[in-house]
Amino acid sequence: MTDKELFDELSYDRKNVYENITDEEKQAMFDLCDEYRVFLDEGKTERECVEKALEMAISNGFRNLDDVNELKAGDKVYRINRNKNIFLAVIGSEDIEKGINLVGAHIDSPRLDLKQNPLYESTGMALLKTHYYGGIKKYHWPAIPLAMHGVVITKDGNSVKINIGEKDNDPVFCITDLLPHLAKDQMVKKMTEGIEGESLNILIGGMPVGDSDVKEKVKFSILKLLNAKYNMTERDFLSAEIEIVPAFKARNVGLDESFIGAYGQDDRVCAFTTLKGIFDVKAPKRTAAAILVDKEEIGSTGNTGMLSAFFGMTVAEIIEKINGSCSMTSYNKVISNSACLSSDVGAAVDPNYEYVSEKKNASFAGCGMVLMKYTGARGKSESSDASAEFVYQIGKILDDDGVIWQTSELGKVDQGGGGTIAQYVANLNMDVIDCGVPVLSMHSPFEVTAKSDIYMAYRSYLAFYNNR
Ligand code: MN
Ligand code: MN
Repeated sequence: MTDKELFDELSYDRKNVYENITDEEKQAMFDLCDEYRVFLDEGKTERECVEKALEMAISNGFRNLDDVNELKAGDKVYRINRNKNIFLAVIGSEDIEKGINLVGAHIDSPRLDLKQNPLYESTGMALLKTHYYGGIKKYHWPAIPLAMHGVVITKDGNSVKINIGEKDNDPVFCITDLLPHLAKDQMVKKMTEGIEGESLNILIGGMPVGDSDVKEKVKFSILKLLNAKYNMTERDFLSAEIEIVPAFKARNVGLDESFIGAYGQDDRVCAFTTLKGIFDVKAPKRTAAAILVDKEEIGSTGNTGMLSAFFGMTVAEIIEKINGSCSMTSYNKVISNSACLSSDVGAAVDPNYEYVSEKKNASFAGCGMVLMKYTGARGKSESSDASAEFVYQIGKILDDDGVIWQTSELGKVDQGGGGTIAQYVANLNMDVIDCGVPVLSMHSPFEVTAKSDIYMAYRSYLAFYNNR
């Protein structure tokens, strides 16, 4: 053995996926990513992602847990919570008290929500007021085409779906920005203040209608159009949930098409690969489960977030339908023996901003799925910090299956930080580790991921389900 060979054996370095996969794997990667782009275009809100996941689950033989009285090995079930949160499971052959293998991803993404009373007229134009959701950089949102997605409950109780700006001949919306010629004051402001939350107003119309008695003629024209198309009145906005998202479609990026650029990849890239993973599980020993949650971007709160009792309640019902009953002791055993991959995106080293990363402990686009032992900020605060034993276990499963993976922290020490659902899963007394796809331009309207990492994330979830 030469010194070079010995050095390679003794030392560790990350690998590039493209240099280490076969042509067949590369083709499987491209095929998976073509399907993923469709998933992104059809699922731009948590509600739409749940609908899409349901459609995929049904075509893969999953049944509604409500319609099943008894469960046995091989059965595939799903449950939807309030149209924004879905749980799926493939029942294993082993005693469920030995634990389940859970993968959890989130399907909410940073965006602009319409305020409850949003419509107003100003300077001859009609606009909609918004309140941003999650961690956005506000300067990303003016001067790009925007689409409107959501649900309005009209006076008669009908639920009306809104989806405007996605079809080629649909109109889009936008937030206007100041021309550079008159931006003298704006341009010297701090970036956090250059665009203010209250100026993220959506242009929705500009054609006045009605006779001289109507004071707000442009607002009137928009109200008439909304009424004709959706049978809604201004009052119906009060209960509506309408989300403003980028109107563009997911695209291949780069001459070699090695990347995908799209809105909402945090964390739909992990939601999609988790779904593909659980659909490909065949006769698992341990019960395989997936949960796609809402509200991660605002702290996992609410009845559709990871902190909701929905997860535990669904697991208890599954235990009951397998064993005929579910005691507290039995439930506790299941949860304590379970393992979870909190599948969420990581921050890829950005060539334009290398200084925020410490490169020995950062993830690189193209170098595979990223395992994050801990997240947090200011001395790992609020991180669940996976144990050495669990990190070893997961790393071994991935290695044995030929998955290419890397590890990462979120940036340099004290550069910032962040959290995921992992800490809330850990609170249940379950082993959990964060892992997912490294992302460039995270939380922007056009996030970028490497296809190789998407493929390796899918392979990771499938290996975890099959082999843990
Ligand atoms: Mn995320
Ligand atoms: Mn996020």
